[in-house]
Amino acid sequence: MKQPRQNGIGSDAKAILSDPLRNKGTAFTEEERDRLGLHGLLPNHVSTMDGQIKRRIAVLRAFSTPFEKYAFLRDLQDTNETLFYALLARHRSELLPLVYTPTVGEACVRFSEIYRRARGLFLSYPLKGRLFEILAALPNDDVEVICVTDGERILGLGDQGAGGMGIPIGKLSLYTDCAGIDPARTMPILLDTGTDNEELLDNPLYVGWRHHRVRGAEYDAFVEEFVEAVRKRWPRALLQWEDFAGPNAVTLLGRYRCRLPTFNDDIQGTAATALAAILAAERLAGIDLIERNIVVFGAGAAGCGIAELILGELVSRGLTREAALARIHAVDRDGLLIEHVNVVTASQARIARPHTEADAWLTQQQAPSLIETIERARPAVLIGTSGQFEAFDKPVIEAMTRHNDRPIILPLSNPAIRAEASAADVQTWSNGRAIIGTGSPSHGSNGAVTQVNNVYIFPGIGLGAVVSGAETITEAMFAEAAKCLASLVPDEDGDRLFPSTDHLAEIADSIALAVCRVAERDLGAIPPAGGWEDAIAGHRWAPVYRDPVSP
Ligand code: NAD
Repeated sequence: MKQPRQNGIGSDAKAILSDPLRNKGTAFTEEERDRLGLHGLLPNHVSTMDGQIKRRIAVLRAFSTPFEKYAFLRDLQDTNETLFYALLARHRSELLPLVYTPTVGEACVRFSEIYRRARGLFLSYPLKGRLFEILAALPNDDVEVICVTDGERILGLGDQGAGGMGIPIGKLSLYTDCAGIDPARTMPILLDTGTDNEELLDNPLYVGWRHHRVRGAEYDAFVEEFVEAVRKRWPRALLQWEDFAGPNAVTLLGRYRCRLPTFNDDIQGTAATALAAILAAERLAGIDLIERNIVVFGAGAAGCGIAELILGELVSRGLTREAALARIHAVDRDGLLIEHVNVVTASQARIARPHTEADAWLTQQQAPSLIETIERARPAVLIGTSGQFEAFDKPVIEAMTRHNDRPIILPLSNPAIRAEASAADVQTWSNGRAIIGTGSPSHGSNGAVTQVNNVYIFPGIGLGAVVSGAETITEAMFAEAAKCLASLVPDEDGDRLFPSTDHLAEIADSIALAVCRVAERDLGAIPPAGGWEDAIAGHRWAPVYRDPVSP
């Protein structure tokens, strides 16, 4: 290691201070300041991490808008990552809505406004042919988890182009906070294949590739080059697809799920979270799912994924696939999905009502609307994954309440401005009888409502995959993850479906264990000598300051 220069302001000292993973800010001790030549580069005060946390949270609380708080947190992450994670761990429930949904949505929309420092990888289409070369040049040899988006369907906010990078950054922050993945071993990636968002293309601040989206064979070839570069550079890394537009999300998952450890969080993570919520709500409502109908409103990537996992659960309880399918009613923009009538995608075809039922459902060649479907099917569960604000209006909720003592209502679309209903409205219109879960954090009259969000699932899936060394991520892992989450009874009384987000780290450990056991049972993963629990605990990176000169 190079010695600091005599005046104490050496280039190594500057390098340490500008490396977010080694910087301690005012917490460098006198001894470290002497040894590393930091005197003069830092103010006089020597703080503890505890003192830094108290100061940072006070400063954060003084900002008036969530977006300002988000920008402050991103700055902290880019300057002192250890402190960022210590702050997040101490104040998780308060900070989660800032680093993740809903504020991360606004952060993606306004990404170019606050772009300051490099984080993650922007692989733009003009770099095609050079992707492996770019990955190979990175110093990060031990990447364990990659989160990638092309920014085309950011939450319910549509095409945000390069601004979509906010999502992989946010998701991987939660991998570290909840699942204890070392931040140096995470890699956020934005595949910048252009944007069809005209406002962004016209915006002089936009930092992405100013070009309409590349599609078809050229897009496929670019993604293929990316996946092969990842496999070559980081052969064991888990690749999580995030916020791709529906058709690409389904196609890419189908193409790559057997070639590397990979999953699509919008399809599979959401499905597991929703199934967990339904299983927990089933217990609260005192019903048996196999006797009751379920309506899924919005049959895109998330809705179809949820329907498939519910079908799997019903089949595992003894129903035939046909009988299980009779329980599912998927409604999209043209009403109840009926085979050969209004089905658009292959995923929809798998969950549509069979064409033999068409005559029974169609009125003057029209498929029934949401409310007509509810009146006919009398479902116990209503799930929203349509991104249609206030689609669950008063008549819809009243119809659900007429047919159930405890209707289960899950408006899952994010952010809140895309939610099918607010928790407060559902509570009012159901006279307090509904069991509710919402995609973004929300409150009803009895306090916080369960946030049915895949943050409950993906950190545990990823940790389990990394620890078990699973070469593929299977549907059984998501089904077991859902059962595991549903079995974790919340501390609070009332209608909460999951423990609060304060417990996300313990939840990630429990789900990781379930995933490791599936990997052992189905994929032949060999448990380490001390058992899976020890391996999971031992893998956890903790936000404590380390010697900044160690690698
Ligand atoms: P998607 O675009 O694949 O699917 C949306 C579906 O809604 C499409 O099939 C579309 O045709 C349908 N739709 C649009 N307008 C409609 C209308 N008026 N009536 C009925 N259906 C309509 O998107 P996706 O990935 O499935 O995500 C959908 C929503 O779910 C987003 O808002 C997203 O934020 C949310 N989501 C929530 C979570 C969570 O954890 N809570 C996870 C993933 C996705």
